Amino acid sequence: MAWNIVIAGGGFGGLQAARTLERVLPPHSARITLVNDVNFMLYTPLLPGAAAGTLEPRHVVVPLREQLRRTDLRLGTVLGAAPAQRCLKVRSHEGHTEDLHYDHLVVALGSVSRTLPVPGLAQHGRGFKTLPEAIALRNHVLGCLEAAETLEDPRAREPWLTFVFVGAGYAGLEGAAELQDFAVDVLDLYPRCRTQGVRFVLVEARDRVMGEIPESLARFATAELRGRGMEIRTSTTLEAVGADSVTLSGGDTIPARTCVWTAGVKPHPVVAKLGLPLDKGGRIVVGRDLAVTGVEGVWAIGDAAAVPDPAKGGKQPTPPTAQHAIRQGRRVARNVAAALGRGRKRPFRYRTLGVFVDMGRGEAVAQTVGIKWRGGAAWWLARSYHLAMMPSFGRKLRLLVDWNVGLLFGRDTAELGQLGHPQGLDDEHVLTATSGGGTPEG
Ligand SMILES: Cc1cc2nc3c(=O)[nH]c(=O)nc-3n(C[C@H](O)[C@H](O)[C@H](O)COP(=O)(O)OP(=O)(O)OC[C@H]3O[C@@H](n4cnc5c(N)ncnc54)[C@H](O)[C@@H]3O)c2cc1C
Repeated sequence: MAWNIVIAGGGFGGLQAARTLERVLPPHSARITLVNDVNFMLYTPLLPGAAAGTLEPRHVVVPLREQLRRTDLRLGTVLGAAPAQRCLKVRSHEGHTEDLHYDHLVVALGSVSRTLPVPGLAQHGRGFKTLPEAIALRNHVLGCLEAAETLEDPRAREPWLTFVFVGAGYAGLEGAAELQDFAVDVLDLYPRCRTQGVRFVLVEARDRVMGEIPESLARFATAELRGRGMEIRTSTTLEAVGADSVTLSGGDTIPARTCVWTAGVKPHPVVAKLGLPLDKGGRIVVGRDLAVTGVEGVWAIGDAAAVPDPAKGGKQPTPPTAQHAIRQGRRVARNVAAALGRGRKRPFRYRTLGVFVDMGRGEAVAQTVGIKWRGGAAWWLARSYHLAMMPSFGRKLRLLVDWNVGLLFGRDTAELGQLGHPQGLDDEHVLTATSGGGTPEG
């Protein structure tokens, strides 16, 4: 009888686990099922490019069915699990709930934005973790420029032209850099806004940006962004967000209608409903072999798991990065195969070989096998790396075309916030509600 292997989550870790299992297990020895709530994997390092209009949104995702040969892809939402019965509860795409029984379960459900109880953040803050959030942000920036252009008074224009990013990790720094680049690029088309300029503020609670990269590279990134006119406020926290203001620690209030929250992640909330042991941060407790501690037949990887980091002597969990999730996906597949009698179980051993931080405008910082790179060379390396990591020739070509078209012809400035939300056939009330509303939303 074939074994049942279920993978919950088809992102960086889950997709890699499925592909490796297809390779290492003989056909018909196991039924592999991958459950994901959408039929694609989001390639998050390219999200800032999609938000800034350099990349077509469809080109920063990887359709799962194109990548899987023998895996059964189930579109659905994981609702919970009963490890004692070896069953995963899933609500299918068409709405009915079913129990998926497994011999081995790999949990790879990723993370969501970690918000703090800052007054006004939930109502007025914007996330930057998903494709809809990134595209909404791009449309919002264009909407702000359109709104500012209609105003006579420069003081009234100011909040529309000020953009605050909170959290200077990958998402915040790359997102702010690309969005600023985008806004500056299109500013020429808005005569009133052009004379006033746009203001970008990057706020970080720690004493430097990008804790993930060496300090000298972080200094270079800071100098580069400051040189472009971006304000970088380190050792500063967000105190409150209003509809048209952002208050920082020290009492400084910035007139701004945009506050983007990129200050860290936490495991997906459904992880707490799986009946598995969790650490203080809510991540699933696993051993060095990625098996969940004390639960037979369950494994966990990626942002949802507290995997002991070999680079830190196993004393801290691995950082929530795609690089780690991919390697954990490969390792967990081999360890599951070993548990089924194929090959040997081994501990997760990966140490980061390189980091890339793309700041747009041909500038980046990078570190590869101990060598530090900055400027154009780092930017070229970063793009080559993502090109190499993007699966399939067709998808690589799409990236190449987008990047080169962007370099030659600049970015598209159409605000397509209504895309995918058509009005009903006789929606007169919708027409009245949306025309002249003046609130630029994506
Ligand atoms: C803007 C941004 C830029 C980044 N840049 C980098 C970078 O340059 N380099 C780097 O190494 N890392 C980067 N990261 C971090 C990286 O994206 C994550 O560490 C990585 O995605 C984690 O992989 P994962 O497999 O654990 O989760 P994910 O890749 O997030 O996959 C989780 C999957 O589970 C699905 N899912 C969630 N809940 C459910 C549910 N209830 N039911 C069914 N399916 C569900 C999700 O749709 C998703 O497909 C970046 C992150 C962001 C937000």
